[in-house]
Formats: sequence, C-alpha cells, structure tokens
Amino acid sequence: MIYTVTLNPAIDRLIQTNGLLMKKRTNRVKTIEYDLGGKGFHVSYTLSKLGMENIALGFIGSENQQQMEEILQEKKVTHQLIVEKYAFTRECIVLIDEESQGSTMVTGNGFQVSRDNHEKLISQLKKLLQQDDMLVLAGSLPPNYTLKQLEEIIDVGKVAGSFIACDLSGDALKLAVKMQVNFIKPNQFELEELLPPEKNSIKNRLLALNEKIPYVVASLGKEGSYVAHTGEIYRVIPPMIREVNDTGAGDVFVGSFLAQLAQKAKLETAIAYATVCSASKVTKRNCTDFDLMQAEQMLPMIKIKKLEGKSDAIS
Ligand code: ATP
Ligand code: MG
Repeated sequence: MIYTVTLNPAIDRLIQTNGLLMKKRTNRVKTIEYDLGGKGFHVSYTLSKLGMENIALGFIGSENQQQMEEILQEKKVTHQLIVEKYAFTRECIVLIDEESQGSTMVTGNGFQVSRDNHEKLISQLKKLLQQDDMLVLAGSLPPNYTLKQLEEIIDVGKVAGSFIACDLSGDALKLAVKMQVNFIKPNQFELEELLPPEKNSIKNRLLALNEKIPYVVASLGKEGSYVAHTGEIYRVIPPMIREVNDTGAGDVFVGSFLAQLAQKAKLETAIAYATVCSASKVTKRNCTDFDLMQAEQMLPMIKIKKLEGKSDAIS
C-alpha cells in the first residue's frame, strides 16, 4: 500500500480574475473553484488517477471538516485522517488571471496539531506500515510542529522497512537527507537551501546526495529535471507546452514517478511518465488536474540523456 501523509492540509481556492491581475485596482472575479490543497493530498490524487491504490493520512480541522471531506470525496481520495478539534483547515488562495501570466499563491499558516493527535498518527503508522509499503511525506509542517516529531514519523517508516519518499523543504528536507530516506525531489530553491551552489555543480551536488538517498530528483520547472540513481545522472528535458498554472507540477511529478516505481517500472519509464504528466498539469487551470492521454502523446517530445563523465555540459 502507498500511504501519503499531509501534516498541514489545505483547501485550495482558485480565483480567476477578469483580464490581467493588477495591483492598486479592483480585480473582478471571473470564476472560483475549490480544490484539494496540501501536497500529500495532491500526491494521493495523482496516484488514484493513475489507478494506484493509496490512503491519505494526516490531520484535518473540525471546523470546516465537511467541506474538506466533500472535496476529498469528489476527488476520490481515500483517507483516514485525524481530526483536530476547534481547528480550521487553512485555505490556499491561488490567483490566476484570464491572460494566464502565471499564478500567485497566498497561503494560510494552518492549525497547531495537539500532542495527542501526533501520538495518534504515530500509533496509526506503526499499525499500518509494512516492508512493501511506501510512505510519502509531502508539504510544510504545521505551526509549532517540531523536527523531532517529523523524525518520529520517518523513524516509524524506517523501522517498518518501508520505502520513504519526501517532498519537503528547508530543515525538514535536511532531516530527511540525514535520515537517508529513499526519495527526495527538491526544486531549484530547495536544492540551493540544501546544498549551496558555491563551487559545486548541480551534478556533483546530486551525486553527493545520491550517496545517501537512492532516488534524487532536482526539478527545475520548465527547464525539466535532473535525476540521480545508483551514481548515474539523467538530464531530462520536458515538452514545450503553453503554461497556464504551474502550481502543483511538483506533486504530479512525485505522484506519477512513485506510481511507476511502485509498479516496478524501469527508471527511464518513471522519469518519462513523471515528466509528461507534470507537463500536462501545467496546461490546466487548477493545481491537481492532468490528462493521461495528453501526457502520453507528449512522450515522444521529451529528452532523457544519461550524463557521462564529470562534465556538466548538456545539449
Ligand atoms: P510545486 O511545488 O508547485 O508542486 P515544484 O516547484 O516542486 O512545484 P517544479 O520544479 O516547478 O516543481 O516542476 C516539477 C516538474 O514539472 C518539472 O521538473 C517539469 O518536469 C514539470 N514542469 C514544470 N513546469 C513546466 C513547464 N512550464 N513546462 C513543462 N514542464 C514543466
Ligand atoms: Mg515542490
């Protein structure tokens, strides 16, 4: 089974404005859509859409629980969430204008998770996790949630011998590296926080990480990605598409990559599917949607090149 964990859940409110979005002006709403927020939920949605059974774990607030559960149901995300009493699941407002000049995100901080609920999550994971399972930790930590608490979660996965995939940032990502999880996918900013670029090329930084972590993906938005596995580095060039909203591209990348790994696909197949599914997502307005048929049609348009020697040169 694949378990995703969303510690800091969110409801995405996607607001599309008429015309161009401008400061110091009244921008009129054209459409409003509610969608799943929280990276773990996004990964669950991707997995389900690709036919991979999975269960979303984590926390939700009691005060708007019904709204969150309706969205989860509509998106066919199977879940076993722990309810935090008197708390509101935060909203992430995604602003996107008619001209689609990229999206702007304004996000709430989320609610504090009680000690009791953290302990509940730990016992739930201890009961559920088995050696053949995948544990996916994605997204930010709730306010006041400590690295020690995150360490406890990763530790349960380690003890069970599960495959642990982390899409985290900052100190949480540093901890995942220290604990030698199985998969990480820093984006450009996250990679720079993890290993500053001074002197070291991206290739050398990925190779250093790959000594501890079996699958390291550095994602670079429309520039594609680098993937390191067993000391080999692949440079991946995505298809050219018309960008509508790139928020959530990373989550679709992670979900489709892990869906392939869980099916024991070859690494290049996992890279290819992750690249085309995330590219398809970028052509959609909301933060989760992608189209598998459209994605598969883009398979011939991507480039995956194994880098040789010590040179960083790519073509
Ligand atoms: P998020 O946190 O919003 O989910 P991210 O910053 O973690 O995103 P990115 O590096 O932006 O992730 O994107 C992940 C992958 O999605 C890229 O490696 C690339 O394959 C694909 N992608 C993103 N933007 C584009 C684009 N404009 N065109 C084609 N592919 C894209
Ligand atoms: Mg990301």
